[in-house]
Amino acid sequence: MQENNSLCPCHSRKTYFQCCKIFHDGKLPPTALDLMRSRYSAYALRLPQYIIDTTHPDHIDFGKKETREIEHFCNTTQFENLVIVEFDAGEFVATVTFTAHLRQNGKEFAFTEKSWFEKVDGQWLYKKGEILHG
Ligand SMILES: [Zn+2]
Repeated sequence: MQENNSLCPCHSRKTYFQCCKIFHDGKLPPTALDLMRSRYSAYALRLPQYIIDTTHPDHIDFGKKETREIEHFCNTTQFENLVIVEFDAGEFVATVTFTAHLRQNGKEFAFTEKSWFEKVDGQWLYKKGEILHG
């Protein structure tokens, strides 16, 4: 469990309590960027249900990725860093380009993804991602 003053795994340099915890507890992220960060920290904190709940029904993996599968990824990966490259904030569609630094089996690697988000009934959802280079 996260302690009160521990830093948020999304690397915002804020504490988890001041950052992504409110979203993991059920508050809707006001922007797609907040959602993106809270999804990254949900992976780091092994909260597969949050990943599933914030995925758009049109996403290619929707309904296919099982909790078990996400948990396996979480358990075998360390989430070393998150760098936001670009945030294009639209009213109903937004994109976030980010570089995720991960570690698996002791090996560090990074990939850059452009993610699309869509606001559905007031809630931002992750629609699709495109790996730019990794
Ligand atoms: Zn955070």
